[in-house]
Amino acid sequence: MSKLHKVYVKSFGCQMNVYDSDRMADTLAPAGYAETARPDDADLVILNTCNIREKAVDKLYSEIGRIRELKEAAEAQGRRMTIAVAGCVAQAEGKEIIRRAGAVDLVVGSQNYHRLPGLVARVLAGEKIVDTEFPLEDKFDALAAPTREAIYRRGISAFVTVQEGCDKFCTFCVVPYTRGAEISRPVEKIAADVERLAEAGVREVTLIGQNVNAYHGPGPDGRPWTLGRLLRRLAKVPGIARLRYMTSHPRDMDDDLIAAHDDLPALMPYVHLPVQSGSDRMLAAMNRRHTRKDYLDVVARLRATRSDLAFSSDFIVGFPGETEDDFNDTLALVDEVGFAGAYTFIYSPRPGTPAAEMGGQVPQVEATSRLYRLQALITRQQRTFNASFVGRSVDVLLEKPGKLPGQLVGKTPYLQTVQVMAPRTLIGQVLPMCITDIGTNTLFGTLAEETGAPALAAAGA
Ligand code: SF4
Repeated sequence: MSKLHKVYVKSFGCQMNVYDSDRMADTLAPAGYAETARPDDADLVILNTCNIREKAVDKLYSEIGRIRELKEAAEAQGRRMTIAVAGCVAQAEGKEIIRRAGAVDLVVGSQNYHRLPGLVARVLAGEKIVDTEFPLEDKFDALAAPTREAIYRRGISAFVTVQEGCDKFCTFCVVPYTRGAEISRPVEKIAADVERLAEAGVREVTLIGQNVNAYHGPGPDGRPWTLGRLLRRLAKVPGIARLRYMTSHPRDMDDDLIAAHDDLPALMPYVHLPVQSGSDRMLAAMNRRHTRKDYLDVVARLRATRSDLAFSSDFIVGFPGETEDDFNDTLALVDEVGFAGAYTFIYSPRPGTPAAEMGGQVPQVEATSRLYRLQALITRQQRTFNASFVGRSVDVLLEKPGKLPGQLVGKTPYLQTVQVMAPRTLIGQVLPMCITDIGTNTLFGTLAEETGAPALAAAGA
C-alpha cells in the first residue's frame, strides 16, 4: 500500500536520540507517514536534537538553513514541506527557535513527541506550534508500536528505553533540565516491547536510559523492581540472545545488578560506566556524588563477579578549576582500571547549568593538550585490548552484510565490530569466530570451526 506522506528524521547525538527518532517515525506511521532517507523528498522533516555535545545550538541553526533551502525548492514546485525541531535543544530553546528561524513550523520537546500526529495536523491547518511543557500523560503509553517491517529494517539489534530523566544534577549536564525527573517504565510494558522485537527477529536488546541503573519501575507484583531483576525477566524472552544496558551511574551499581552479570549468560560482559574525572576535587565540583575510590570499588566488585568484564567510560577534561594534578589523577585512574574504550570531551559550558557560571575556566590550549594525552593513553589500552583477541575464538552476533561481496559484519560481546566472510543465512546467529587480525576500529575473523581456534576465556587476560 502506498503511503500519502514521507517523513525524514535526522538524529543528532546519543543512542537515546536514535531510539526517540525511531519512535517518532513509528508514531507517525498510522497517520500515513512513511520514512524516507532523503530530506528533499520529505513532506515532514524532523530534526531530533541533542545538546550534550558542544555547539549543539549552532549546529541546529546551520542544519535548519540547509533544510530551509529544500523547503523553498519544494514550495517552488508547489509541494509543502513542514519543518519540526524535536529533542533536547527544542526543549531548552522553545519558542526562540521559531523566532530565530521562521522556516520552522513546530518545536516539540523531548517528553511530547507522542503528540506528533496531532501537532503536525494542526501545523498543516496553519498554526505554528511550540509544545515543550512536560506532559501529565505517559509518553510511552501514547506511542505507537513499531511495525514488523520497521523492526526488520532497523536490524537485529534494538534499543528499548526503560528509564528517562535524571535526578543527579551533575553541574555540567543539561539532562535534568531537558529530560526532567527520573521516571521508570513498568516491567510488563518493557517485557511486551522486548517480546514484540524478539518475535520480529531482534536478537540483541540494549536497555537505555540517561541513568539506566537507577531503574525502579513497578513490577507485576506492584513493587519497584531493580534493573538486575528486570534483566532477569527479559533474559527469559525466547529469541533474545544478548542484553546490554546503558548509561550507568557508579552510585546506582547495586549488588543485584552486579550479581546479574554472574547469573545471566545473555548479559554481555561490557559495561559503560562514566567516571568523568579521576580527581576527587573535580568529582565534587561536578557534583558526581561518588569519589574516585567509590568508582574503583564498583569496578573491583564487578570484576570479582565476572573476570572477563570490560569497561568503557566518559571523561571530561578541562572542567573549571581542573589543575595538572587533577588531570594526572584522571590518567592514574585510567591506568588503574584499563579501559576497552571511552568517550573523551573537553569541557564546554551548557547554558543554565551551574558549571557554566564557575570561575577557573581552563585555557583551551591546556584543555586540548590534556585531551590528546588522555586519548593517547586510552587508544593504547584499546589497542592492547583488541590485540588480546588475535588467535582466539570469540562469540560474534552476525548483524548484516558487509561492504564486500560475501562479507558479514557482527559484534563481539565487547561491541567490537568483526568482519568475516560468511553466508547471509547466518545473519542473526551468534557463532564462534577466530580473530585473525585487527584494524583501527575493526577485528577480522573467520568462522571458528574452520580454524579450531581456542575459546576466549578471559578477554584481555
Ligand atoms: S548522572 Fe548523567 S544524566 Fe544525570 S546529571 Fe549526571 S551526567 Fe547528566
